[in-house]
Amino acid sequence: MFENLSERLSGVFDRLTKQGALSEEDVKTALREVRVALLEADVSLPVARDFVNAVQEKATGQAVTKSITPGQQVVKIVHDALIDVLKGEGEPGALKIDSPPAPILMVGLQGGGKTTTTAKLAKRLKEKDGKRVLMASLDVNRPAAMEQLAILGTQIGVDTLPIVKGEDPVAIAKRTKTQASLGGYDVYMLDTAGRLSIDDELMAQVEAVRDVVTPRETLLVVDGLTGQDAVQTAENFNERIGISGVVLTRMDGDGRGGAALSMRAVTGRPIKYVGLGEKMDALETFEPERIAGRILGMGDIVALVEKAQETIEAEQAEKMMKRMAKGQFNMNDLKMQLEQMLKMGGMQGMMGMMPGMGKMAKQVEEAGFDDRILKQQIALINSMTKKERVNPALLQASRKKRIAKGAGMEVSDLNKLMKMQRQMSDMMKKMGKGKGGMMKAAMKQ
Ligand code: GDP
Repeated sequence: MFENLSERLSGVFDRLTKQGALSEEDVKTALREVRVALLEADVSLPVARDFVNAVQEKATGQAVTKSITPGQQVVKIVHDALIDVLKGEGEPGALKIDSPPAPILMVGLQGGGKTTTTAKLAKRLKEKDGKRVLMASLDVNRPAAMEQLAILGTQIGVDTLPIVKGEDPVAIAKRTKTQASLGGYDVYMLDTAGRLSIDDELMAQVEAVRDVVTPRETLLVVDGLTGQDAVQTAENFNERIGISGVVLTRMDGDGRGGAALSMRAVTGRPIKYVGLGEKMDALETFEPERIAGRILGMGDIVALVEKAQETIEAEQAEKMMKRMAKGQFNMNDLKMQLEQMLKMGGMQGMMGMMPGMGKMAKQVEEAGFDDRILKQQIALINSMTKKERVNPALLQASRKKRIAKGAGMEVSDLNKLMKMQRQMSDMMKKMGKGKGGMMKAAMKQ
């Protein structure tokens, strides 16, 4: 996620770091580009303008030219400003659900991921917070949607209100409230009806339900891939219903992440969660620091280089970085990285630090990665010939079988490893592009 913005900003900062010191004019030029980058990343014009102005003010206030590493300083200022825009109050993802039974109203357009998110959040509340949750679907026009929630409920072990045919949404809401009190539930979640676009009837219905239950949280679920449309939807729902937070779904896709910035700035409501896939576990709290770090990427690259240098021989690190800067990344490089990861406390920590790798870190987490798997992957690479390691394109069916067998693994495991190598290689190519690639810039600092 946020790849476009991240790449674009890397380009800007790359140019900055290539110069010894920053003049005020440099800052202005850079910030003009930051503004263009934000607009291209689907941040709305007023938000981008405000953002850049805020950064400019901060940058001018500080003695940027005197800084030892001016590039880093601007990165830090932009980074902090991004966090300022993105952050909400309190803990990330915190919900006001202390007085049981606490109602949570889930609103949004059809297809945005509302039902899925309702179930994901219910699962999270149950497993992470130990809450007893009751869910109910109010989508009386779409029996399939009601069924869907019931099925998800069974799947995740969360109760759903029994469906009674012919009941209207307000009546269902009332019944849920009663049932939640009687049944000793901590939270009840109402999955309201969606429409393809915002209309008066939908809004009136949600309002009526809201007035019956007085929700503690009203969460708007929007498709993060829809960019400015998502921001518009949020604005409309917030004006009419009053939302307490936003869940951005499909952030596992390659949408332009700028919507997150605009959303926050326009509605004034925090983004509480992001949806990162279709699975019931694919819901994460929205953490501005992490997002800002990924948007910028560069600061993390620096941290990564430092950490790598602590653990491995400096020479080896440099060699690896040089190859990466050239966009080269074969199985030998992957093996070296896997071995480092073993030393450095696991894969997730490491990947989380690399820009653009958030999605992979997530996949890694979902796949239940641990050190054992790292070792298995190293075994797979060990089972390859020298030629195969250097040129993984050689790996066709019969070779794959041999390698997997040699490592005592399945071909599907090898395919996963190969996919990882390809993704890393693609990323390195992107980052290493041009003379002054990002990795090179990071090395110079
Ligand atoms: P609703 O009409 O708003 O209730 O939408 P649904 O919950 O039925 O979701 C529509 C589709 O989007 C389903 O196929 C979901 O699996 C999918 N979906 C929901 N959230 C995410 C997400 O975060 N990532 C991805 N990739 N798919 C999602």
